[in-house]
Amino acid sequence: MAQDTVTLAGPQSPTASQSHAHSASTPKELGSVSRLEDVKRQSNQTGSLAQRWPEGRRSCVALAFDLDGPTGDAMLNGSIWINPSYFTLGSYGPWRALGRLLDMLSERCVPATFFVPAWVVENWPDQCAAIIAGGHEIAYHGYRHEAFWTLDRDGQRAVMERSAEVFAKYLGVRPVGFRTPSGDWGPDTIRVLMEAGVRYSSSMRGDDRPYLLHAEGMVEPMVEIPGRWELDDYASLAYHRNPDFPASLDRIASYDTTLDNWRREFDGSHRDGLCLTTLFHPKVSGKPGRIALLERLIDHMHAQGDVWFATCRDVAQWWLDNNTSGHSQELTA
Ligand SMILES: [Zn+2]
Repeated sequence: MAQDTVTLAGPQSPTASQSHAHSASTPKELGSVSRLEDVKRQSNQTGSLAQRWPEGRRSCVALAFDLDGPTGDAMLNGSIWINPSYFTLGSYGPWRALGRLLDMLSERCVPATFFVPAWVVENWPDQCAAIIAGGHEIAYHGYRHEAFWTLDRDGQRAVMERSAEVFAKYLGVRPVGFRTPSGDWGPDTIRVLMEAGVRYSSSMRGDDRPYLLHAEGMVEPMVEIPGRWELDDYASLAYHRNPDFPASLDRIASYDTTLDNWRREFDGSHRDGLCLTTLFHPKVSGKPGRIALLERLIDHMHAQGDVWFATCRDVAQWWLDNNTSGHSQELTA
């Protein structure tokens, strides 16, 4: 590593050409100040990407929403069909909250990614078409929000194939992104996803920067854009009865505290030049009293002046372009 580059921790280090510009003028002879600078540079273990994003932006925000609707465990086990009020709790997302959310994003000129179970696309096609018409990205999230780790390879393939058919039929698109519905991955999942044309995932938790995943025997990597529970609106705002959630905690978190938590998460990410994505749900935070939290959060991000707002797809493309040696790949299925 050359003297005038910053060593970044982790396997996804940007190339030397992206290294911190200010260090190029560091004098070779080490006076007390420059020695201190040298120590500081060598001790940079946090992998800050500050000012390495497109157009010299300091950090990246990839807003993402899971438009689950009424899919999930209760639909998979059939109980939702004898629990109509629980169905409407979920259908509120695509039916009512989504439009409010799209209006808010449009007013602020902020792109977002929506991870949508294909069953939701089948049942609310016009609402889902509005996502694409608004310039946002739509991506895979199972058919009825299946837990992939519970399915064998053929079962996972069937979900992806049916999802692709639905997206093509109703929306005319072929998504390249995927976020894991409930639960985790099985050992076959990454291969199934790659074979289905998925080029990035936002399912893991292991970093606050994107990174590359490699399926055994496959040349092309998959980009992972990890999220964190701190940026999941379920953690503070989800609340319902029958079934009770959260179990044995009969209250919703303070909205001021929730906004303060989210803002602090962004502030830390922005300070260190990282990539922040969200696990927000229209049915949870797209409500009249809560949309203001998202408005104030986005306005706070905008006020910094140097945030790169991008869809997860664009983040993945940028990461591939800048972190795979010798070749660039287009994110097309
Ligand atoms: Zn979901």
